Amino acid sequence: MNDILRVENLEVVYNDVVLVLKGLSLACPEGRITALLGANGAGKSTTLKAISGLLQCEDGEVTDGAVVYRGQPIQGLVPEKIVRRGVFQVMEGRRIFEDLTVEENLRCGAFTRPGSEMGDSLALVYDYFPRLKERRRQLAGYMSGGEQQMCAIGRAIMAKPRLLLLDEPSLGLAPLLVEEIFDIIKRFNEKEGVTILLVEQNARAALSVAETAYIMENGRVVMDGTARDLLDNPDVQEFYLGMG
Ligand code: ATP
Repeated sequence: MNDILRVENLEVVYNDVVLVLKGLSLACPEGRITALLGANGAGKSTTLKAISGLLQCEDGEVTDGAVVYRGQPIQGLVPEKIVRRGVFQVMEGRRIFEDLTVEENLRCGAFTRPGSEMGDSLALVYDYFPRLKERRRQLAGYMSGGEQQMCAIGRAIMAKPRLLLLDEPSLGLAPLLVEEIFDIIKRFNEKEGVTILLVEQNARAALSVAETAYIMENGRVVMDGTARDLLDNPDVQEFYLGMG
């Protein structure tokens, strides 16, 4: 199977001094869900930002290694160019425009696409998230945390990505809502064939939808394998699934 993305020995430094990624490598097979797990501060969000180019907006820099997307190095490209190639990141903490309606938020996701495709894309998002359709004229800031997360993911779907980077979609959500959102993510992946790299602290939820996963500690991958093998691994059970 083809890897749509390969991250090779990536080193990232913030503010010219703080080394946060220390030779990180991972691969995302096309059409599959890959999870990137690990504790607070391991470097998961930094990895996504290095892929999407958003690192540049935070005084971060790739100092070694490569991000290879569809066979081409993309590290150093500006975020807009990376979006245009089909890579879209949903940031941690939802980051929707609170003063815009739900539908206006969704439309923002399609900024790189022809206006004629807008209607079909909105229909697709509303198919996955009927609740967004019901609330499409409501200001996004008045929606619940779960609905805002749906809006953020819906906005990403509007961009028609080939590779979707999701940063902690479960953050701050009640367990039932986490299940609902992860079911939708899985269905979207299976139906549309979009590759997903999913960053999560909720290892159990992530391993329930991902095919393969990487576990990070302190800027490096310390373990990887199929979701099944990791769920059965006693160390993973003890340290990441709270079963010790
Ligand atoms: P979390 O789940 O808490 O977001 P994470 O695994 O995603 O954790 P990162 O957010 O990538 O981890 O952070 C990794 C390290 O980089 C942390 O020590 C953090 O303090 C540092 N860091 C993150 N962003 C910046 C920044 N803009 N400037 C300087 N240091 C940063």
